[in-house]
Amino acid sequence: MHSASHPDPQQQQALPAYRVERSSVHGNGVFAQRDIEPGERVIEYAGREIGWDVAQARADAQGGPHNHTFFFSLANGNVIDGGDHGNEARFINHSCEPNCEAIEEEDGRIFIYALYEIKKDEELSYSYPLIYEGRHTPAIKRAFACRCGALNCSGTMLAPKPRKRKPRVKPVPLAELAPVAATVQSPQPVALG
Ligand SMILES: [Zn+2]
Repeated sequence: MHSASHPDPQQQQALPAYRVERSSVHGNGVFAQRDIEPGERVIEYAGREIGWDVAQARADAQGGPHNHTFFFSLANGNVIDGGDHGNEARFINHSCEPNCEAIEEEDGRIFIYALYEIKKDEELSYSYPLIYEGRHTPAIKRAFACRCGALNCSGTMLAPKPRKRKPRVKPVPLAELAPVAATVQSPQPVALG
């Protein structure tokens, strides 16, 4: 860091930090228009805040889960629909080795921050992971396959399904238990030297 070479903040604000163009990863992507500082707030993930039921209805109307990757869940249980009054942030691709992160602020707005210094023309990315509550069928897995190219790429943008309850201990049929109990409780022959 040489503070002398830092761009003047005024000038920096005048330059948009990002632009949208075709990405080699997936569809459109968002690219740094200039160098971006670590921790810099790059863009708001804009969109209308809607309830989960409305989001579900919108997803259904659009023909299923493949098209609703613009939803961003909030701590209050609602989602932000980036496809409704959204901005360029909805084009930021997922990466398993992201250079940005999404942070929900106290007021329920989501902003994308740079994790590291991002050089001009680098593609911006963050790690989603996508919550999809339906069955993770092969078609769904294909639709949300990750092609970020990172060494540690998980191969999917889907979050593991949340465990609603503790993992269940597999019930053991009584018939299987009984012999074990019997073995323990019945006197065992002991070989004495
Ligand atoms: Zn990946």
